[in-house]
Amino acid sequence: MVSAHLNGEVLAQKRIPTQPKDGPDKGLERILETAEEILGQAQVAKNDLTAIGLSVPGPLDPVAGVFFKLPNLPGWEGFRIRKKLEEHFSAPLYMDNDANATALAEWKFGAGRGYDHMIYLTMSTGIGGGLILDGKLYRGKNFNAGEVGHQVILPDGPPCGCGLLGHLEALCSGSGIARRLRKIFGQGNSVMWELAGGDRKKLSAEILTQAVRQGDAVAQEFFQQTLEYLATGLSNLVFILNPEAIVLGTMVAKNPDLFLKPLNRLVRERVWDVFTPNLKILPAQLVDQVGVYAPLAVILDAMNLEPEELIP
Ligand SMILES: [Zn+2]
Repeated sequence: MVSAHLNGEVLAQKRIPTQPKDGPDKGLERILETAEEILGQAQVAKNDLTAIGLSVPGPLDPVAGVFFKLPNLPGWEGFRIRKKLEEHFSAPLYMDNDANATALAEWKFGAGRGYDHMIYLTMSTGIGGGLILDGKLYRGKNFNAGEVGHQVILPDGPPCGCGLLGHLEALCSGSGIARRLRKIFGQGNSVMWELAGGDRKKLSAEILTQAVRQGDAVAQEFFQQTLEYLATGLSNLVFILNPEAIVLGTMVAKNPDLFLKPLNRLVRERVWDVFTPNLKILPAQLVDQVGVYAPLAVILDAMNLEPEELIP
């Protein structure tokens, strides 16, 4: 949780663990307690808040200010978080799901600055997405647009966390990569099996990238296949949305040297030339600071403000 000026200057912050078992009433109590604490540290009076921003790990209705079913927070479905926090702080609350909030943050503060047509993909445990189209976040009829990780890449491919088959997330997310690696565990002579300490459950995207850097042939072949799946997914997005910038989160942002050059080539091989002169594939810039900038970007977007206007 962060108390900050609207230009991004952080005044105080504190990290508290999510306690899914607590449910919404106790959860709200902890949120209020922590908020009061960091406002105290920042020496901001409760009534001086301009706005409250929320970046939430799951689907929600940003207009009504309620959560839909949150996979990691049972019991919060339908909880009127906005009403409760607005009443307590006498300030407006703006909220969005974390993929949209991070897309807004990269657009306003990070790698996507200056692009009116930008697609953001989280590239972490799952693959979430946010679409900036014509200079605006596109939410769709039920606020669910941008689920780019759940496009089909292989119709008979491995099952996705969502239950359907062959989705981009099942092939290229951190959890998808780990699951695919487990299937080939022990096959061929690879440093990955040692890096995992002989335990297939320890295989991960980090172990894969580490082995690729060491020139491991099994890892390199697996990584090449992963890049091709990802490039197929990105080229689908290019054909449909004609973006200027595709901003890729965690896994790519931490390994830009491994991903960007081959991805640029593979995507360009898969789309018409007319799409590519202005197309940029970029690593996200805010990875570790997204907790600060995502809720802030949600507020700025809702209030129609640009960060530049706020820097003295
Ligand atoms: Zn899926």
